[in-house]
Amino acid sequence: MTAEKADSGLLSIIQRRLRGAFSLMAAFLWPPVCANCGRAICDSNHLCGGCWQEMHWVDRPFCPVSGVPYPYDAGQDIVSPAVLADPPAYDKARCVALYDATARALVHKLKYYDRTDLAVSMGDWMVRAGADFFANISGPLVVVPVPLHRRRLIGRRYNQAALLAKAIADQKGLAYWPDCLVRRRATRQQVGLSDQEREANVRGAFRLNETYRHNISGKSIVLIDDVMTTGATIEACARALRRAWAAQIFVIVFARVVESGQMTI
Ligand SMILES: [Zn+2]
Repeated sequence: MTAEKADSGLLSIIQRRLRGAFSLMAAFLWPPVCANCGRAICDSNHLCGGCWQEMHWVDRPFCPVSGVPYPYDAGQDIVSPAVLADPPAYDKARCVALYDATARALVHKLKYYDRTDLAVSMGDWMVRAGADFFANISGPLVVVPVPLHRRRLIGRRYNQAALLAKAIADQKGLAYWPDCLVRRRATRQQVGLSDQEREANVRGAFRLNETYRHNISGKSIVLIDDVMTTGATIEACARALRRAWAAQIFVIVFARVVESGQMTI
């Protein structure tokens, strides 16, 4: 072994030991707490038992296209009537949880209260929700967030969807294109609008960043947002990607609003 190799081996051992010592010290000084209620827990970046149970985690059975959960298992690959009646521009969508009180609290902390650290654990759950995309896709895969309008980005300082997309891209070692889509006008907040108003609100609101025009063709996209309500925003983004010849479009959102009428087979 050369002296140079021995030195670098020793250096990496020292670095590992220092990192371990720092983690122990950090755990002592800042003991891990529940990401939602703040109660002390054993493992960092997770939920306490109570909050875990309160989340409505979405698991099978669900529509293989939209990911909307079914009330009972009718067999694999049964596409929901809603998707058959109005096929989305994306190929498949998945979500971590239903948008109930606990999921809403996590999203609000990430979005409005500077809890940007939550993006790592929320992104981790989103990777698991999209496990079937990641296992079955071949060819290049790029992670793209739903964009915020410039004006709103100045007010909020960060785009929560971009934080989640970055966490997912880092974890999966994928390309991350935060500015691939552009919000060309500031849309009204979707809260309180009817389905038709939401659709009109985001119609034509998104376009592809011209820089990516020649890079996107043939690539599969994982489109990321924090919450899907009616799906109008996701649909508008998926159409913009589709027009640029994206090969496949997979959507992963953290939480999803699901009306009871949607959960029919
Ligand atoms: Zn908790």
